Amino acid sequence: MERPTYVTSMQHYLDEDHSIPESMPGPALNLALFLGSIVGWVSAHRRSPKPRTNVPCRRRPDLQRCTGMIHARFGDDGSMIFWECPICYDHGVIHGWEDTPWDRRRD
Ligand SMILES: [Zn+2]
Repeated sequence: MERPTYVTSMQHYLDEDHSIPESMPGPALNLALFLGSIVGWVSAHRRSPKPRTNVPCRRRPDLQRCTGMIHARFGDDGSMIFWECPICYDHGVIHGWEDTPWDRRRD
C-alpha cells in the first residue's frame, strides 16, 4: 500500500523573526527536529555521494522503533530534499529550508 508523501516546507516551523519558536506543541517539535536534522545533514554533506544520514527513522511500527537510518538526497534543482527510510519506506520531500537555522551550507 502506498503511503502518502509528506511535502514539508521548513518555513512552517519558523516564527516571524525567522527563528525556531520557543514554544511548539510536542508532535510539531518532534517533526521539526526530525526534518531539521535531515536538512542539517544533507546541506552539510552536499558533495557526499552517500545518501545515508545520521538521522534515525522516527517511526514506531508495532511500538518498536524502526531501526532504519534515513537516506536523503537533493533533487535535480538542488532545492528539494527527498528523504526515505530504507527499512520501512517512510518518505517525504522537504523544501523552503534555505537560510533557515537548519541550513548548514556555510559550515
Ligand atoms: Zn523506518
